[in-house]
Amino acid sequence: MERVYNFSAGPACLPIEVLKQAQDDFISYGNSGMNVMEMSHRSKEYQDIIDTAEADLRDLMNIPDNYSVLFLQGGASLQFAMVPLNLMTKYKKAHFVKTGQWAKKAIEQAKKFGEANVVASSEDKTFSYIPQLNADMFTPDADYVHITSNNTIYGTRFTKLPPVGDLPLVSDMSSCILSEEINVADYALIYAGAQKNIGPAGVTIVIIRNDLIGHAPDSVPTMLNYKTYADNGSMFNTPPTYAIYIAGLVFKHLKKLGGVGEMEKINKEKAAMLYEFIDNSPLFQATVEPKYRSLMNVPFITGSEELDKEFVAGAKKAGLVNLKGHRSVGGMRASIYNAMPESGVRELIAYMAKFEAEHK
Ligand code: PMP
Repeated sequence: MERVYNFSAGPACLPIEVLKQAQDDFISYGNSGMNVMEMSHRSKEYQDIIDTAEADLRDLMNIPDNYSVLFLQGGASLQFAMVPLNLMTKYKKAHFVKTGQWAKKAIEQAKKFGEANVVASSEDKTFSYIPQLNADMFTPDADYVHITSNNTIYGTRFTKLPPVGDLPLVSDMSSCILSEEINVADYALIYAGAQKNIGPAGVTIVIIRNDLIGHAPDSVPTMLNYKTYADNGSMFNTPPTYAIYIAGLVFKHLKKLGGVGEMEKINKEKAAMLYEFIDNSPLFQATVEPKYRSLMNVPFITGSEELDKEFVAGAKKAGLVNLKGHRSVGGMRASIYNAMPESGVRELIAYMAKFEAEHK
C-alpha cells in the first residue's frame, strides 16, 4: 500500500522520517529491549526522552527560562477549562476574541468559572475574518485575554498581536504551533493539542509563564492544577509516554530541517501556491479574505455542493484524502501542516486544475 497525501485537520500526517524512526525503535528502543510504550515512565531511558523533547521544544521556540513546558492530557479541550480554573483568580473575568467554534467552546467553559467577556466576534460573517481589535476593548479588570491564533475550521489566523497592554495573553495554538516564528514572551500561556503539528493525539503542550503557576484555589483538583505538572516534571502520574516520544522525534526532525524559521518559509510558500491557484481559478473560491488567511488550513468551495462532493471523492481516488470541509462549513479544506510536503500541495493543485478543466 502506498502512502497517500493526507490533508486531515487532525490527527494529521506525520513526517515519514519520524514514522521510520519509530519503526526502527519499535521492537527495541536503543538497548532497552522494549518499545517506549512498554517502558516505565520512571526509568532513566524515559526521563531522557521527555527531557530531550522539552529541551528541543525550548530550542525550537526559543522559550525563555521563566516559562515552564508542561505535558498534559485531555486535549486542547481540557485547556478550555484548565485556563480559567488556574488563571481566573483575581477578577474572575477574562476577555475573549470569538473567532470560531474552538473559541466558542473556550468561552463556554470559562463561563463556568467566571465572566467570559467577548470583546469582539466574527460570527456575523461565519468567522471568515479576524475582528479589528483596539486597546480600549481590553479593560484592565480581567485576569487574562484569550485568543485562538489559528482557526482550524474557518482557515483564519491572527497576523498581529491583540493590543492587550499588561494583561496576560493566552493563546490556543493547537493548529499553528511550530508553523511560524513567534515571540513566546508576548504570551502568558500557550496551549496546543499535539495531533496537528506536533505528534499523535494524547499529549497537550502548555507553555506557561512561571508567575502564573500556583494561584489556583484549593478547590481545584490536583490533576487540573498547572502547579502539579510544574512541580513534578509533568510526571505526577503516568504521562502519555508514547505520544511524548513521537513528539520528541518530530522536534528533532524540525531542528534537522532548520527549525521554525525554515518551516515558516516553507509553509508560506506552500500556502501561497495554493491560494494563488484558487484565486485565479474560474471554479474554486477561497472563503477567507486574503489578509486573514491561515497558513495551515485552507478552506475553499466550488459554490455547488454536488461538485464539492465529486471533487472530494475524485481526490480520494487520486490519493489526496481528507479534503472534505468541516461539517459546519461544508466545501473543502486542505490542512497543510508542517508535515505536508510541498509535493502534496503540488499534487493537489494538479488535481484541482484537472477537475476544473473537466467542469468548464
Ligand atoms: N482548538 C483548536 C484550534 C483546534 O483546532 C482543536 C481541534 N481541532 C481543538 C482546540 C480541540 O482539540 P482537542 O481535540 O485536542 O481537544
